[in-house]
Amino acid sequence: MDRRDLLKSAVAGATTVAAATVAAPAIAAKKDKKMKINMVSTWPRDFPGLGTGAQRFAKRVTEMSGGRMEVKYYAAGERVKAFDSFDEVASGNSQMYHSAEYYWKGKHPGYAYFTSVPFGLTYTEMNAWIRFGGGQELWDKLAGSYGLKGLMCGNTGVQMGGWFRKEINSADDFKGLKMRIPGLGGDVLSKLGASPVTLPGGQIYENLVSGSLDATEWVGPWNDKIMKFYEAAKYYYYPGMHEPGAMLALGINKKWWDGLSPADQAIIEAAASMENDVMMAEYNAKNGASLKSLLKEHGVKLRAFSDDIYDSFGEAAEKVFADVKKHSPLAKEIHESFVAARADIGSWAKISDQAYVQQRNRVLGL
Ligand code: CA
Repeated sequence: MDRRDLLKSAVAGATTVAAATVAAPAIAAKKDKKMKINMVSTWPRDFPGLGTGAQRFAKRVTEMSGGRMEVKYYAAGERVKAFDSFDEVASGNSQMYHSAEYYWKGKHPGYAYFTSVPFGLTYTEMNAWIRFGGGQELWDKLAGSYGLKGLMCGNTGVQMGGWFRKEINSADDFKGLKMRIPGLGGDVLSKLGASPVTLPGGQIYENLVSGSLDATEWVGPWNDKIMKFYEAAKYYYYPGMHEPGAMLALGINKKWWDGLSPADQAIIEAAASMENDVMMAEYNAKNGASLKSLLKEHGVKLRAFSDDIYDSFGEAAEKVFADVKKHSPLAKEIHESFVAARADIGSWAKISDQAYVQQRNRVLGL
């Protein structure tokens, strides 16, 4: 470095120091400013798992920021109706929603993949796809086109197949069946002749009791027991092909998100990632005990879908996926990324988690 360069870098250095000195108080002032964040959701207030998980996330962001990021949480209907959450946040009226992205499949079928699709990924596989298999990048592309940014923020794990008034002995038994089942799972049953309905959680029970619905799926034993579906339908089927690892999402207004400091974004990302883990743990911990109570205290009849019925689900699912791929280049891209992830990650799951649990339970008689 000759003298001229030295001088130049000294001047540059001095300029940097001066700029930092001037800028520091402004940054500090901005950092301390309280931020009011409105968060809407599609869940009833205090609904165990989905609702309490969303509320826990909101509280955690406030705590992690030392109260600076004040998240005001609104359950379904408190600020907007459950299914108006998307437009509420996309328009910027609120900054975040907590929901299941497949509720927006009417806007774009690609959204279904960011909750769960028939014959889809389990919790473990979903995390691998989103974080390391290109899933988040595709989600950013899709949500970004609506002015939104999505983050994983909870999971229910494998869901039950649903509650039915009568036994389902063959795929033909789905003909004419009116069932509450959202997402692409509903489209699969539609190919088998059923009439799928999408209803928010708070409206399912009354429709099942009144007979407007013949069947419903919801989540799993812990949540379903609270909903008291067993009062109207006794046959409880497993495993659900439609939501093998339903991921819950935090939807964020993208313009607002892009304006946050990297530190504030990191707080929201960390809180969302934590809830993704905590919610799954809670479901896994509580489903077993609830199932026992449903069977022993409420006369619920547990049934497995037969291999024949599952084969019919598989054929119908392929038809649904063919329709999705035709929708748009992005829908095709999301589907193909999902299929590749399912093959690679799924073949590992087969000889790891699945093989181990099968052997352990066989030896222990579980
Ligand atoms: Ca469900």
